[in-house]
Amino acid sequence: GSVQLNDIPVWTPTSGLSEQARYQRNEKLDRKISLYSGDITKLEVDAIVNAANKTLLGGGGVDGAIHRAAGPMLKKECASLCGCETGEAKITCGYGLPAKYVIHTVGPIAQGGVGEEERRALRSCYKNSLQTATEKAARSVAFPCISTGIYGYPPEQAVHEALATVREYLDAHHDKLDRVIFCVFLPADKKLYLQNLPLYFPAE
Ligand code: ADP
Repeated sequence: GSVQLNDIPVWTPTSGLSEQARYQRNEKLDRKISLYSGDITKLEVDAIVNAANKTLLGGGGVDGAIHRAAGPMLKKECASLCGCETGEAKITCGYGLPAKYVIHTVGPIAQGGVGEEERRALRSCYKNSLQTATEKAARSVAFPCISTGIYGYPPEQAVHEALATVREYLDAHHDKLDRVIFCVFLPADKKLYLQNLPLYFPAE
């Protein structure tokens, strides 16, 4: 079965970490963040984000899982989009998925190490995905840990780009989104998000 938005717990920060926090509390963002552990293809939200490759024709990892769950119509629509550049995002229907839309974004390949270019591209993925969601009036969006699988971006660095970019987007557009869900698949990623969420979404 699928997991409905109402069944995805809201993440609420614990107090006492204000000295390490990188941002001030924004009470308008209360109850807009979730950390979900599991398969993104099960989420019945407005949009799930796919960590795709430039061809948009499917691949391994989360991309393969999304295409398998959505069915062949997804690949057909993707084939009409003429690919996608690194850092950009394109939207399709969800077909057999419980999610209404899939937002396909292409993360940077970081196997040669992370420099300013990779860092900016990863931030663009999160920002352009959120912008694409709001253009379609999608109010709940779930992200996988973009680039941290096959593309080799160190997860302990990627988490900061993910959280900072979502925080900054929500500061400016909190009225456009009800929930942003960080969907982690690996226990190590869950730990990283639990450690770092309070720095970007502090309680005080
Ligand atoms: P990339 O090529 O951008 O690195 P990957 O799919 O290889 O993309 O990995 C991105 C992240 O997606 C990894 O953390 C991986 O563990 C995770 N992942 C793999 N399958 C799923 C899934 N079904 N749901 C959510 N996350 C997934």
